[in-house]
Amino acid sequence: MTNRVLALYLHIPWCVTRCIYCDFNTYVGGEDTLKARYHVALQREIREAGAALGHPPLDTIFFGGGTPTTLPPGQLVELVETVKAAFALRPDAEVTVEANPGTLSLVDLRELRQGGVNRLSLGVQSFNNDELRFLSRLHDADAARRAVEQARAAGFDNLSLDLIFNLPQQTLAQWQFNLQEALRLLPDHLSLYSLIVEPGTRLHRQVDEGHIPAPDDDVAADMYASAIDTLAGAGYVHYEISNWARGNGETDWQTPRLASAHNLIYWRNQPYLGLGAGAFGTVNGERWMNVKRPQDYIRRIERGKRRLGAARDEKTYEQIDRDTAMSEHMLLGLRLVREGVSAAEFSACFNILLQERYNEAINRGLERDLLEWIEPPTGLRLRLTRQGRFLANRVMVEFMA
Ligand code: SF4
Repeated sequence: MTNRVLALYLHIPWCVTRCIYCDFNTYVGGEDTLKARYHVALQREIREAGAALGHPPLDTIFFGGGTPTTLPPGQLVELVETVKAAFALRPDAEVTVEANPGTLSLVDLRELRQGGVNRLSLGVQSFNNDELRFLSRLHDADAARRAVEQARAAGFDNLSLDLIFNLPQQTLAQWQFNLQEALRLLPDHLSLYSLIVEPGTRLHRQVDEGHIPAPDDDVAADMYASAIDTLAGAGYVHYEISNWARGNGETDWQTPRLASAHNLIYWRNQPYLGLGAGAFGTVNGERWMNVKRPQDYIRRIERGKRRLGAARDEKTYEQIDRDTAMSEHMLLGLRLVREGVSAAEFSACFNILLQERYNEAINRGLERDLLEWIEPPTGLRLRLTRQGRFLANRVMVEFMA
């Protein structure tokens, strides 16, 4: 039997240092021997997952972390090869690697590009060296500019940059400077995130102890508004709450061609597989996360259970019931601020009209001008209004099971 999974996420759980705001499943350092064992275990998990699922077609691979480039490029390329042998990777599949400026040479970038990686997502975060130091990033602004130049020279024609806004004491002018510097580099895609104070992070402790002011929501809204307007003026299409892609003549409701194909699979609530320590996925109505610590992950895979989910953390396993699936379909789909949620697809998936299932939530959103119906040639769709993009959490809560 062939199962439907469209996307494969591979987690590489190491970083050189830990950023002040980071709550991801990542570990500083990592001995070479541990990384080598991890690489072998991950290859094995890929092979076993491909076999267990019947070698299904795959549209995307995404190497995330951590910092995937803490593994040598040759090992990342070997992982791509392993995926090709275990799954039916489509010839035009999107293969993304997240990388930090300063962690890759031109030679490394060429090796990745020639090895089948065709999209690079660079964690630039800021073009202000004081802000970069505050975030505990290892690179400076020039290293970010160099990384973009080298990625282009290596043949990457699909390049995404991440930026963070609403840093303590960051002014609107400083944020606009970061946006303009990013635009000067002509990225194909931009992901912009407001700084979040996650529990357990150094940032959280420092805010708690009063050393750093908590981020201000009104300032965040002003910065977000300035990003929406600036990027629209520069020809970028805002297609997801935090993501923009260079436009190519798409009409008002269409997601641009340069949107992240991998993340679209998440937002369209389609099945994906996550492999590696702490990775999670959802396949055939089941969802789980692998154990988080690399050592535990390796041990589970080496123990040789030879089945899908051999490294899963049992506490995280769940079967997704219909109400949860419907709610998640809305929470994810409404993030897509252009295409929104198709009424026809919703009723085909769940056998109930969208307008019937979420009548109250939709009416409240329409009354407050946070939601709107649009009717492109593909049929009725529900999406956030411009105002709704600023108050997305308030809208989403209405759709929770
Ligand atoms: S580089 Fe990314 S994953 Fe690594 S510590 Fe910084 S934010 Fe976390």
